[in-house]
Amino acid sequence: MKSVIVVGAGIWGSSVALRLADAGWAVTLVEQHKPGHVRQASAGETRLLRCAHGDDDWYAGLAWRARDGWRRLEERAGERLYHEAGMVWLAGTPDGWEHASARVLKNLDIPCEVLDPRDGARFFPDFRGDDLSFLLWEPHAGVLRARRATQVTAGLAEAAGARLVRARAVPVAGAAAVEIDGEVRRADRVVWACGAWLPELFEGTSITVTKQDTLHFAAPPAWSVPETPAWVDYGASVYGHGDVDGVGMKATSDLEGPPYEPEHGERVVGADSVERARGYLRRRFPSLAGAPVLFTQVCQYALTPDAEWLIAEASPGVWLLGGDSGHGFKHAPALAAYVAGVLDGDHAPEHRFGRHERTPSRGLRTSGETW
Ligand SMILES: Cc1cc2nc3c(=O)[nH]c(=O)nc-3n(C[C@H](O)[C@H](O)[C@H](O)COP(=O)(O)OP(=O)(O)OC[C@H]3O[C@@H](n4cnc5c(N)ncnc54)[C@H](O)[C@@H]3O)c2cc1C
Repeated sequence: MKSVIVVGAGIWGSSVALRLADAGWAVTLVEQHKPGHVRQASAGETRLLRCAHGDDDWYAGLAWRARDGWRRLEERAGERLYHEAGMVWLAGTPDGWEHASARVLKNLDIPCEVLDPRDGARFFPDFRGDDLSFLLWEPHAGVLRARRATQVTAGLAEAAGARLVRARAVPVAGAAAVEIDGEVRRADRVVWACGAWLPELFEGTSITVTKQDTLHFAAPPAWSVPETPAWVDYGASVYGHGDVDGVGMKATSDLEGPPYEPEHGERVVGADSVERARGYLRRRFPSLAGAPVLFTQVCQYALTPDAEWLIAEASPGVWLLGGDSGHGFKHAPALAAYVAGVLDGDHAPEHRFGRHERTPSRGLRTSGETW
């Protein structure tokens, strides 16, 4: 029987552990806290699932397969994890990122529709879109209950036979092994799925970690999922969705925040983040301008220079899985299948995920501009 130690029970590590346990590997999943603990990126209350990725068709196809993966996971767990409320992309220019996305989605037979900005009134109780060129509607996009989905995935991995060990693992140089409390444990493969902790553990990952403030506003009941869908203003680097689970309408900036330390950093949102989100609400959804902040979370991005992930063999049998760059949650079930194929030797990871020099770009997630 093949063996693997997966370090990190965020959504990436938990999904890989589940996939490999299902495939008959002997799996040990090591997590320093608990799956779903609030320091991990996967413990955001919600994460968006969308297939649009500009002119990139690889991530678009992966997201579409992941949607099926989430559905299967829901059936297995017997619980709702994904609200398919749809997503409205708010396109500021006729021939930009959203236009490229629509072309790719159509080529991949992923449903989408190009709409007039006035159609915004169909989706939102109150909407101002006079600055927009068009809307791109993705009916099968939506909102994942992220923290819960992470706990469920780790639980299913355990039920499938993975052993969950609560400990802080330390790399053993050059060996497919980890050190836990002075004891060295070996396996055929070790996967370090350590999110924002990865750059401390391994030199030369080129991952930077930033503080990201997330805001939810108290809005009337009509601003709830599924009546109000998810929305992304790529050009203005702002996104959100209707209320899920009573934590309020999400409206938050995607701009990269200041450098952050995930273990000890204080998790208090800044007044500037509140002002930026409220300013956007005032202009796009004017009736929410005075909505009180209901719920906040501080999370962190683990960013590579080009927003492409890191999936690379550091030494024989030792794999680094990180640099999610703020757009990795949705893909987890499909990414786990892809990573399982890499660990099995069925295929090599794409060149894009390697440890080569990267050209800076944010384009897979946001334009990096503000409104
Ligand atoms: C504000 C925000 C919004 C986002 N929005 C979206 C979105 O809408 N859609 C989307 O798809 N993605 C989104 N993302 C990205 C998504 O959350 C991440 O891609 C995903 O959660 C990464 O999961 P992970 O498992 O790699 O990392 P994490 O969830 O951070 O997990 C890493 C785990 O490793 C553990 N660990 C680290 N070191 C050790 C060690 N030495 N020993 C033991 N355990 C260790 C940590 O405790 C942690 O639990 C967003 C991220 C943020 C911050």
